[in-house]
Amino acid sequence: MDSLQAARYPFLRGSAQFAEENSADIESLISSSSYESARKRGLERVLDAVSQHKVGDVPLLQEYDRLMEILSYPYARMIVSCINDRFLTKRYALAEASRMNGLLSNDPGSEMAVAEELEVRSTAAAEGRINMHFSDYLRFSHVMKASEWKLINTDLKGGFVLLDPDRFARLLQNALQERIESELPLNVPDAFRKIMRKDIDRVNMVLSDTKKKLSPTGGEGMNPDHLPPCMKAILASAQNGVNLPHSARFALVSYLNALGLTYEQIIGLFAQSPDFDESKSSYQIKHITGEERGGEGYTPPECATMRTNGICFDPDNLCAKINHPLSYYRVKSGNTQKKEEKP
Ligand code: SF4
Repeated sequence: MDSLQAARYPFLRGSAQFAEENSADIESLISSSSYESARKRGLERVLDAVSQHKVGDVPLLQEYDRLMEILSYPYARMIVSCINDRFLTKRYALAEASRMNGLLSNDPGSEMAVAEELEVRSTAAAEGRINMHFSDYLRFSHVMKASEWKLINTDLKGGFVLLDPDRFARLLQNALQERIESELPLNVPDAFRKIMRKDIDRVNMVLSDTKKKLSPTGGEGMNPDHLPPCMKAILASAQNGVNLPHSARFALVSYLNALGLTYEQIIGLFAQSPDFDESKSSYQIKHITGEERGGEGYTPPECATMRTNGICFDPDNLCAKINHPLSYYRVKSGNTQKKEEKP
């Protein structure tokens, strides 16, 4: 593999081999002054992913630059692994995968090597197009919502979907994102974590700031005056001991969770009800917020679903301009920074 391709696509097996051939091992990467540039670039990869949603480019003219670029990738992955935060991992994986997609658009010669690495069954077709096995196509296109991605709208022959290079690269992006997410966290020894402490702390700080910015409350805690009429009504009913339908309870808890309220804060609101049943509420809240499964909580329903469920109460003028109860809170609180991903 040539060094430029190895540096552009550091997740390829050939890139790791290239590093080995240049006598770079993981201990030296962590601690040797010879690899300081690689560590700096690795930190930059993660910080860019968190704060800008992308991994920026660096010049790769010299062999030295290329080796540092290759080594920065495992270092970035170790930082992400040490923090082991679902939001960070997803954001980092997306940033690396988008970067690869961008590079492929000017480097069509590398797409088959990338596809092979990601085990995407595909073959080159006439006029620079690519055939992708339909089952891989389905696997990596299911997150694409536009109708043009539906299998029925593709050029499907003999079990393969014929794709233009840019669409192929877009699916490879999904494949790489999935691959990175599945591989992390890596098992990073405590001794390494100690040496990496400064970089880990730096990322943790930027991560916490980014989460605050993306939160509908801007990290300021919930202001009840900014709640939409539906949530005010459901919350008031819950606190007055009115028996809520499941859809209303689900909408309220998932909404409060999305605002960043903790389990204790949410159960504290329900505890004001005269017939508060802690064990029943606790189970429901933990299930909806994801605490029970150790994962993410459910996404709160949008206005259309609230209306269908008959729990859109007393919509006001602002309601006419939004389509999600979380948008109502953002507008009311003046925290209108576009939410890119749930922190
Ligand atoms: S329009 Fe949306 S935000 Fe407004 S009350 Fe109905 S569901 Fe709630």
